[in-house]
Amino acid sequence: MTCAMSTCRSTDASMRCSRCKSVFYCSHECQRSHWAMHKRSCTYMYAAMRWKTLESEWWATLPRDVHKTYGEVYFMLQGLKPCVVLTGVPNAFKQDFYDKVIQPCKLGEDVLVATINKVRTQAFDFDGKLILLHRQHERYNMILSMLKIKEIGHDDIVLEEKQIAWILDYPVALDECNDGTMLEIAYFAIETNDLLTSFCALDTIEHRQRVNVHFQKYKATLGEMLPMRIQVIIVS
Ligand SMILES: [Zn+2]
Ligand SMILES: [Zn+2]
Repeated sequence: MTCAMSTCRSTDASMRCSRCKSVFYCSHECQRSHWAMHKRSCTYMYAAMRWKTLESEWWATLPRDVHKTYGEVYFMLQGLKPCVVLTGVPNAFKQDFYDKVIQPCKLGEDVLVATINKVRTQAFDFDGKLILLHRQHERYNMILSMLKIKEIGHDDIVLEEKQIAWILDYPVALDECNDGTMLEIAYFAIETNDLLTSFCALDTIEHRQRVNVHFQKYKATLGEMLPMRIQVIIVS
């Protein structure tokens, strides 16, 4: 493996960061000098990996499909996505999921955990769903007020799919995929081949461009300094 210390780059790096298990070093010296740079991404990676483990353990106790969300959680910690909505977790098991997955992951003070109340779109009901919001994201305040997160007893809110796509940072909204040849787009982690996120788009030049801009932005943020590299797969 290549030493993660940029001024070293020795190809004989066999010591692995014991916390995130994602970067390698040739020596203790390199690891020590790289720590200031690596600390943040190490913390994010560690939290996301812990999420991955705890989430699968949690789902194993229910007779249901596993909803893998650690990719989305990692994107949020990196400041790419403003939030993650845990739509797969049944409302009755919300507290249990909080106790056994969210809490032990120690996502940090930058992440607000809240419940969405009385919000839906034409297609989906978000009422009672858990949401993780990144406080440092530029859309944070806007999303709080759109979903009325901190207001108790507010009226029902009906959002458009376009607004949901903006809240969750998807390049194409669900109802933009109705008319034409649909593409199923998925981002995978290169090393582990794990599914990180997926969404739909139409097979048009305009949608392909939007998806490309989205993907390049995610790749640029994760690519250079971070271990989880992503690739896009389009299934039409
Ligand atoms: Zn080195
Ligand atoms: Zn590390």
